[in-house]
Amino acid sequence: MTPKKIKVLPENKLQIIWHDNSESIIKLANLKRNCPCAVCDSEREKQSSSYLPIYSDWELKIKSIDKIGTYAISIVWDDGHNTGIYTFDHLAKLAENASS
Ligand SMILES: [Zn+2]
Repeated sequence: MTPKKIKVLPENKLQIIWHDNSESIIKLANLKRNCPCAVCDSEREKQSSSYLPIYSDWELKIKSIDKIGTYAISIVWDDGHNTGIYTFDHLAKLAENASS
């Protein structure tokens, strides 16, 4: 799936309109908690599986979103964290899990 449009909603959620016009909504907290970069990966490994980071609102602001080729986006967070590359596949999975 390829997104047609990606937009940050005011209520701290990311809205993705896919190529087939279906819509995914992902909470920014969910997005950041699942950051796929190596730093966050090892951070999560150190923590127990029950560990859920609580982010304050300012940490959850997205500064910019860049398209990486045709398969992913990179997100620059307001706290300067910018190493996470989210493949469209990953984003679709996060959206599926968002309600759980
Ligand atoms: Zn990260």
